[in-house]
Amino acid sequence: MKTGCVVVAAGRGVRAGLPYNKVFYKLCGRSVLSRSLDALSRTGLIDEIVLVISRDDMALYQKTASEEGACPLVKSVVFGGETRRDSVYSGLKAISPDADIVLVHDAARPFVTREIVSNVISDACKYGSGIISSPVTDTLKRVSGDMTARETIDRSEVRSVQTPQAFDYKKLMQAHETLPPDDSATDDAYLYEKCFGGVRLTEAQSARENIKLTTPEDFKMAEARLASEIRVGTGYDVHRLVEGRRLVLCGVEIPYEKGLLGHSDADVATHALMDAMLGAAALGDIGKLFPDNDERFKDISSLILLERANDALHDAGYELINCDITIVCQKPRLAPHIDEMRARLGEKLRLDERFISVKATTTEGLGFEGEGKGISAQSVAAVRRTAV
Ligand code: MG
Repeated sequence: MKTGCVVVAAGRGVRAGLPYNKVFYKLCGRSVLSRSLDALSRTGLIDEIVLVISRDDMALYQKTASEEGACPLVKSVVFGGETRRDSVYSGLKAISPDADIVLVHDAARPFVTREIVSNVISDACKYGSGIISSPVTDTLKRVSGDMTARETIDRSEVRSVQTPQAFDYKKLMQAHETLPPDDSATDDAYLYEKCFGGVRLTEAQSARENIKLTTPEDFKMAEARLASEIRVGTGYDVHRLVEGRRLVLCGVEIPYEKGLLGHSDADVATHALMDAMLGAAALGDIGKLFPDNDERFKDISSLILLERANDALHDAGYELINCDITIVCQKPRLAPHIDEMRARLGEKLRLDERFISVKATTTEGLGFEGEGKGISAQSVAAVRRTAV
């Protein structure tokens, strides 16, 4: 089965009160758009994403993607139209024709969870559509123009619906292509129900977390939520310097007569960083995640392990805020390689380099590092809780 996803970010977001499109707002250091794309791609349930943005936002999108890392699942970026419906339709046309299921998601909902995505896809497979929805907790009144309510609506008869909305791809295309223009079409579920007589509403425990960032208050609440639990971890590692091995530090190969000995590429600095990240979330250490008697990890690039450790961190509901690594090494001189090391780590972690620090020091000839017998590395990492 092939699943595509159209992410709509072409609106203006006027109610957010920002001088630019709200999806580019940096929520605790990372844009709302990148957060939404990351959340969708981390589910592992989506094969491709088509992003719909306004033509005016292309430069801002490119800047954001270069700072925060382009989401690898984004297959194409298309321009939106006059209405939301036009924008979604532009996105749908760019989805691979062999897709079975398509999701439509608002970029302004960065807290979408794997549970939600999994449940809407499962309903779309069974019923043709799956629309994430929540029970309504407020009492609802039908109101006339003068703010007089004469009727209370039975709460058990209504639900609020959000995105993501999942559909049989061909049927949603049919709905878009056959229905005449209609001002009431505020979402795709509306078009589908007009065309096929009804949509399936999907439930999920985490549906209430999936808030849409609309007003300045929403942004404040989202930031408070992300800052509510911050934790730190430390990591330390040592590898022996021997002849006949490559010297790899933070994923960068450094020309030297010796290299580090180990089961993987023995990238001592990346190992210390992974331990700090895992430690911050109390997830154990790299020995637990990647045992050194496992043949799959023989000579593997530690950057691949770093990506997996970062996934484990996200699966546990945390994200890396920043990290600092100190490499203790007498020779060779590491200063010329520091910037490349930070860039390499940033690329793998999809984190702006401003939040990644790498330093190197010698020990003035003292100890095993000073005698050139080995290299050690220490790291601290701070993480924040992203899931409630
Ligand atoms: Mg190690």
